[in-house]
Amino acid sequence: MSVPRNRLWIGNEWTDAGDGRTFPTVNPATEEVIAEVAEAGPEEIDRAVSTARTGFADGGWRRMNPHKRSQLLWSLADLVDANADELALLETRDNGKPYFEARRIDVPSVAQTLRYYAGLADKVQGDTIQVPGPFLNYTLREPVGVVGAIIPWNFPLSMAAWKVAPALACGNTVVLKPAEQTPLTALRFGELAAEAGLPPGVLNVVPGFGETAGAALVRHRGVNAISFTGSTEVGRVVMREAAGTLKKVSLELGGKSPNIVFADADLRAAVKGASMGVFYGKGEVCAAGSRILVESAVHEEFVEGLKTLAAKAAVGDPMAPATRLGAIVSEEQLDRVMRYIESGRRDGARLVAGGERIKVNGRGHFVNATVFSEVDPEMAIAREEIFGPVAAVIPFDDVDDAVAKANDSLYGLAAGVWTRDIGKAHRLAAEIDAGTVWVNTYNQYAPGSPFGGYKESGFGRDLGFQSALEKYTHLKSVWVALDR
Ligand code: ADP
Repeated sequence: MSVPRNRLWIGNEWTDAGDGRTFPTVNPATEEVIAEVAEAGPEEIDRAVSTARTGFADGGWRRMNPHKRSQLLWSLADLVDANADELALLETRDNGKPYFEARRIDVPSVAQTLRYYAGLADKVQGDTIQVPGPFLNYTLREPVGVVGAIIPWNFPLSMAAWKVAPALACGNTVVLKPAEQTPLTALRFGELAAEAGLPPGVLNVVPGFGETAGAALVRHRGVNAISFTGSTEVGRVVMREAAGTLKKVSLELGGKSPNIVFADADLRAAVKGASMGVFYGKGEVCAAGSRILVESAVHEEFVEGLKTLAAKAAVGDPMAPATRLGAIVSEEQLDRVMRYIESGRRDGARLVAGGERIKVNGRGHFVNATVFSEVDPEMAIAREEIFGPVAAVIPFDDVDDAVAKANDSLYGLAAGVWTRDIGKAHRLAAEIDAGTVWVNTYNQYAPGSPFGGYKESGFGRDLGFQSALEKYTHLKSVWVALDR
């Protein structure tokens, strides 16, 4: 494969940090440095924002014939498809996820998201409104300007597409700050955007650390909106820092999502769904169904089933086709996961599967699929986001108890419900405080379906049609007197 792109991508050109600063990005499966990457700090962020401002102000993008803008996004999707093997390999090396997941799920979803929003580019429209008096009143939907996109390391390229595609479709320009752990696919994506024909300054990609590059982007007066996905802890900082310039903010944050299994469910399907819900993506998924609430009558049977599937989730080399759990993104993150596993043991939960730190071929940061049963809802493993393959199984008695336990969380990102009773399913869908509820399935996403949180899981929605317009456009009201 070609050498990973490792410089800053600003104005459709490769450039370095002013003082040549770089940082290493590491393959968590081998602990090898993949590349030294140019590190943006406040100065480079300022350069990127100025370039994006010019790209916005010169009108070349926002006033482009919307059919043409649409075509360019579609071309970018085609280029993502054409370079799918390379992008998937970069993602796997940077993040540690199995190659087949990156190749079959992440990268195709990026192309899909781009195509969906290519279709939005020529559908940005307002209303005419009846008002009293001799006036014509109508609304315009206008791009907000420069969007700062800050994304995490779990689905680096998908998260980039979730933010970049709708922002560009609406006529904004973007400064994208990938996570310091996984900057490589975003850089290649920037280059592909130029190849697709996006004008200079429309998409700029600036790797760097959160406290320096991320914070500078959030504070910058030239940035009109911040679209952030990451931890709740950092989300609070972003909101506080954005207050200085009162920019538009949307936050897609952490979760501790309940996956609720009723005794009347298809239990085999529920066990499989719960396993996929918590172990998919190594559990480094903000919507991971990490609190599994199980009706007492089927609790034992369910735990046995989940234990069997956890044992089958092969930990291994991310490039090996049989691997289901790749490497945890970094040593630091694995340490954090292991501390939670230790706290579960100490607090008296029963460890029924996994819980071991593993090396593959003598190296890398791995842990096997871990299941705790007899978890008390007050334990840290039941309340805090672990961001690793750790399931906490909690019994419940009836529907009211299930709803109460499900909602007993600071978070409200997603939830799953497993039942054959259609009334019960809809009742729970309505009563659970979460941005997404999956019934008899889990972890489904599509570009048209909005995704985001209630409570401390944040606000604003990624994906969706109307939600994208609300996030990435201003609504302007125009009054015209008709009698003079
Ligand atoms: P995670 O738990 O996924 O690492 P973080 O919230 O730490 O989530 O990181 C998500 C993104 O936020 C990353 O791109 C990171 O660099 C960035 N980030 C971290 N701290 C800040 C900050 N103070 N201001 C802006 N961005 C930040």
